[in-house]
Amino acid sequence: AGANLYALLQAHFPADREACCIETQEGLRYSWDEVDRSSARLAGLLAGLGLPAGARVAVQVEKSPEAMLLYLATLRAGYVYLPLNTAYQEAEVDYFIGNAEPSLVVCSPRNEAWMRGLVARHRVPHLLTLGEARDGTLLEAAAGRSDRFETVHRAPEDLAAILYTSGTTGRSKGAMLSHGNLASNALVLHRYWRWRPGDVLLHALPIFHVHGLFVAIHGALLNGSTMIWLPRFDPKAVIVRLPRATVFMGVPTMYVRLLDDPGFDANACRNMRLFVSGSAPLLPDTFRQFEARTGRRILERYGMSETTMLTSNPYDGNRIAGTVGLPLPGVRVRVVDEAGASCPTGEIGAIQVRGPNVFAGYWRMPEKTKEEFTADGFFRTGDMGRWDANGYLSIVGRNKDLIITGGYNVYPKEIESYIDELPGVFESAVIGVPDRDFGEAVTAVVVPKAGEQVDAGAIVASLKSRIANFKVPKQVHVVAELPRNQMGKVQKNLLRERFGG
Ligand code: ATP
Ligand code: MG
Repeated sequence: AGANLYALLQAHFPADREACCIETQEGLRYSWDEVDRSSARLAGLLAGLGLPAGARVAVQVEKSPEAMLLYLATLRAGYVYLPLNTAYQEAEVDYFIGNAEPSLVVCSPRNEAWMRGLVARHRVPHLLTLGEARDGTLLEAAAGRSDRFETVHRAPEDLAAILYTSGTTGRSKGAMLSHGNLASNALVLHRYWRWRPGDVLLHALPIFHVHGLFVAIHGALLNGSTMIWLPRFDPKAVIVRLPRATVFMGVPTMYVRLLDDPGFDANACRNMRLFVSGSAPLLPDTFRQFEARTGRRILERYGMSETTMLTSNPYDGNRIAGTVGLPLPGVRVRVVDEAGASCPTGEIGAIQVRGPNVFAGYWRMPEKTKEEFTADGFFRTGDMGRWDANGYLSIVGRNKDLIITGGYNVYPKEIESYIDELPGVFESAVIGVPDRDFGEAVTAVVVPKAGEQVDAGAIVASLKSRIANFKVPKQVHVVAELPRNQMGKVQKNLLRERFGG
């Protein structure tokens, strides 16, 4: 099978093929043998459709073990897996189908009617359905297939998946990831986070995104670990299952919601050895509260669709709140100024990366791809950051969120950190809004702690004594919560729309 990622994963399945690979919320258990045989049937089905080489299999379905089997089957058959966020509606999916030109679409039975229209319009030859409860035409069609399938030979540079970015800063782009990209990152993380015999992963993330699909699933499969699988994040459901788990991965909002539940305590975490956070910045306050409550330090890491994981706080060493840790082995990370020179410690610059995990380019966007790589082959992440004295990286935000006010650069994260420390403040988002005098005016959107109140004027007054005047928000808006997408990312574009007028 050459460098086919499935072959690598399969080689790490445990010797006991009857052991449990996935256990669902309803108590269904899928053995490793079953994972191998069911993915073989699905791969046989895909191969039998006569799809062209490099065909994309676009999948928008609810989270289920079968959805993961379809991912594995797509790898085995040598096609390109293209997962789509379940929140996307018809008009959005229209763009992705038109852009990706898949040969097969698999959708939820409940979306079949409108998906049929899209598929016809874009001349996609095949449409199948997969529901949450093993319903739909995909499994019916695969039922008669052989439960053996010889995994197709792939080279490391052959495409394995196209992952559309979250669209936080603009229109989503399709990141082309190869078998080699995914394999290298899976192996590095397996070692770095010290996966070990007996580990059990509690999996509560969606599986259309790099975090839940690659970081979590590849880790467990490579380790031969059982996954306790939740269809969606629910704090109570997590808390009752935690005592049987050793590893949990989440986005920051999940940790906030766990802490909101009085039932979440050290006892619930008694067998846990690793909590990973990523996809959005974890507030230092959340990190500290978590440690106070459970005695565990969340391990924060940093990555993106185009590169999978880039940096991580250490497993054994000090995990520092507000940082994303150290470059992973084999990954080169640099922070550079506008001229491309390396920034000294403490100075903010653009984060650029290079390594075996970095993608080949954006799907059907050769110009954009060219712009985002430097002459010496580094990818421009679009994130701004700085090194601290220990060589830990901090993310200070996206370059697109940088505010230029009266000719001065303002990094929203810096102002947010000051605001977050003020009494009564839970969190904040700082944005630039168009302004006649300043070009952009610094504007803060503040969320009070539950049951507490904050005063916009008092916030401005206390900031004035701490930071340069040009950084002090011209306006402060108090809101109940910040708009976030499913991965817990703050949608600053929505804030700019709302408060920009
Ligand atoms: P788009 O590229 O379409 O605007 P996106 O960048 O949000 O969307 P993803 O690839 O899902 O899409 O997210 C990657 C981004 O998430 C990173 O570039 C970074 O800004 C952010 N991110 C990930 N992990 C962390 C972290 N630990 N701390 C801060 N930011 C993080
Ligand atoms: Mg991005």
